[in-house]
Amino acid sequence: MADIDVHVLDRGRIHADKNFAVDGTTVATDSDPNPDFEYVPYAVWNLVIDTPETTVLWDSGSHPDAATYWPDPLYEAFAHVDADEHDLADDLDEAGYGLDDIDAVVQSHLHLDHAGGLYHFEGTDTPIYVHEEELKFAYYSAKSDEGSIAYVPADFDRDLNWQVVHDERQLAEGIELLHLPGHTPGLLGALVHTETPLLIAGDEVFFETNYANEQSMGTSLLWGSQAWAESLWQLKDLERRHDATVLFGHDADQIEAIDGDEWP
Ligand SMILES: [Zn+2]
Repeated sequence: MADIDVHVLDRGRIHADKNFAVDGTTVATDSDPNPDFEYVPYAVWNLVIDTPETTVLWDSGSHPDAATYWPDPLYEAFAHVDADEHDLADDLDEAGYGLDDIDAVVQSHLHLDHAGGLYHFEGTDTPIYVHEEELKFAYYSAKSDEGSIAYVPADFDRDLNWQVVHDERQLAEGIELLHLPGHTPGLLGALVHTETPLLIAGDEVFFETNYANEQSMGTSLLWGSQAWAESLWQLKDLERRHDATVLFGHDADQIEAIDGDEWP
């Protein structure tokens, strides 16, 4: 087992309706035709995965100017209220790292709450790992009226040292990348061989409920439901075989329960 430290960077909170994350949370019925919606916090986090070989940043969070920089309808639905208090360099500094310490970045996907810090790496030779299907879909979405509106070209249409992941692969000793299509076509997760193995589900599983009840996100956040179900089974199989702890994509309770910033 490699000697790996994982630091969790808390990058703030998005406020949004819970129905987006957990399909059918609020449903009108005959006896309750006007139920109250649940407006809940969604945690945004990044990781520093520090191995003897390399120091990896997992995702780069929202752009600090999300309130003005994201398309209005998107910010209205997904308000990242404290993005401006969470500059990537500051949050890294709190965990004891500088931008210069980062040897590689893994983008789980290129949605605007995950790729907004890539500008820090523009013009550098820092490798930015992204799945082939994700990079294609992000450009297709950004440059046409098709695809998804959650890709902001200014996040990723930059001079970056892309390293395209075509298949599941070992990123470094102790870090295995997983292709988990469902939320997006090219979502990456990982199995990290820390003392308690860490299974990064990311946005395949927004909240613990998605995982426990095998309940997907709402259709607006779901690229493919069959792919999503298959990715979930893959995660559950890995969890059992490695006795791993699963890290969810936006579960504020889980992030707030972590003592300090070190993954146990
Ligand atoms: Zn997300």
